[in-house]
Amino acid sequence: MSNTAIPLSNEITFADLNLAQPLMRAIADAGYTQPTPVQAQAIPLVLAGGDLLAGAQTGTGKTAGFTLPILHLLTAKPVANQRPGRPRCLILVPTRELAAQVEESVQTYGKYLALKSMVMFGGVNINPQIKALRGQMDILVATPGRLLDHVGQKTLDLSGVEILVLDEADRMLDMGFIRDIKKILALLPKQRQNLLFSATFSDEIKTLADGLLHNPGYVEVARRNSTVELIEQSAHLVPQKLKSYLLAHLIKHNNWTQVLVFTRTKHGANRLAEKLNADGIPAAAIHGNKSQPARTKALAQFKDGTMPVLVATDIAARGLDIDMLPHVVNFELPNIPEDYVHRIGRTGRAGSSGAAISLVDSEELPFLKNIERLIKRDIPKVTVDSFVPPTNLPAEAPRPPRQPHGQRRHSHTTASAPRPPAGGSRTQPPRDGQSRRPGNPQPGNTQPRNPQQRNSPLPAKPRPAQKPTDQPPLSEAARHQSMPQPALFSPRSGRRGK
Ligand code: AMP
Repeated sequence: MSNTAIPLSNEITFADLNLAQPLMRAIADAGYTQPTPVQAQAIPLVLAGGDLLAGAQTGTGKTAGFTLPILHLLTAKPVANQRPGRPRCLILVPTRELAAQVEESVQTYGKYLALKSMVMFGGVNINPQIKALRGQMDILVATPGRLLDHVGQKTLDLSGVEILVLDEADRMLDMGFIRDIKKILALLPKQRQNLLFSATFSDEIKTLADGLLHNPGYVEVARRNSTVELIEQSAHLVPQKLKSYLLAHLIKHNNWTQVLVFTRTKHGANRLAEKLNADGIPAAAIHGNKSQPARTKALAQFKDGTMPVLVATDIAARGLDIDMLPHVVNFELPNIPEDYVHRIGRTGRAGSSGAAISLVDSEELPFLKNIERLIKRDIPKVTVDSFVPPTNLPAEAPRPPRQPHGQRRHSHTTASAPRPPAGGSRTQPPRDGQSRRPGNPQPGNTQPRNPQQRNSPLPAKPRPAQKPTDQPPLSEAARHQSMPQPALFSPRSGRRGK
């Protein structure tokens, strides 16, 4: 969203990077004065034609870090007889929203070039994509599942790919895309440039990188907002049934204009958005059950300020460029303490800190304790004197108890938890760029889930699997990933075979 908080490189200017003039004009139009650290480091390496392993998360300017040099290289080396449906560059991303964002960046930076781009993801009608593939297309941004659907329908030819980007590779693995990625890699020409971007480096990422990259250059930039100290945190101790009223009060009373609210479940997100709307606060829910057009619309409205409240599940919020927000609210605390850190990391804008507010029912106090232990600080407990709880509340159905992190659950205890299919689990992840989460156990699966597989800079700590109420069953690929992983790999210090 706001770009003002992004750290810029002190030493290198865009002029030092030797990018083509049409790209320099587009950079100036975007209002960028200086490259970010990942851009300053990655752009020369990509322009030199080598493979790249980059440790950078969303919000560091990584998209321009690969898009600008790719546009430069493709323009500098035009091909004769470029055929329709045969991209020269393939950018694979984990989610639909990220696909749309990355392709938007390609268009923004490439607006003075003759190159054409296309975005393809699941959850929408395939026919317009098939039609678009009949035209010129140099750069394809895609989620893995839909891409393979096109390959299956022979509407896409990957034999002309000169440059491959795996963006947010850790999330792709986290979401169970490893098989799809392997299938796609097998369809690409052997001779090509490979760029791998990942926020974390688990063993699986290292294995993928080892098989994919040849003498790669390394880039690693600091995580944004990696210190929770910068974020103003508070917890309101409030019964679950009063939370929606307190939230509406906080939003109205404080004139909050852009609030990302996290709920644990899709149903909870829907219910809360409905309640807020009924209370005169425009709110939209965003989660995996929403259609792609609805998700895109909600996100656009939230970004342009017409929808002040976006209610999201953790999964739906992943991969979205909706950080640097003034307010993040935990309507329910996450079961997993590391998720708290990821959620609140989205606050903070224009160099100032943001506010993270947690609404905590007494049942959630063990979750709060675990979070405080993880972040090594107490979260101030505050009361809102101006809040007068309503009387005559509608009766609520009793909720099943939640298990805090650290207590193993041996069977499904939540009312709406989906049962795995009879005779075993799904072996294929859904093919729509939708997230699915490793670590959600099948009954009897007590394999610890490892935080290093996700975007956590935090120390490795085995943790028991937990099952939120509306997560999909664990895929084979995802279950495989729930094996314990060793500590973070640093490309600078790590030893690699290539
Ligand atoms: P990304 O990490 O690629 O998602 O980028 C995060 C945000 O930073 C996007 O909104 C970009 O428009 C913005 N951005 C990228 N490069 C720069 C730059 N050099 N100066 C200022 N903002 C930038």
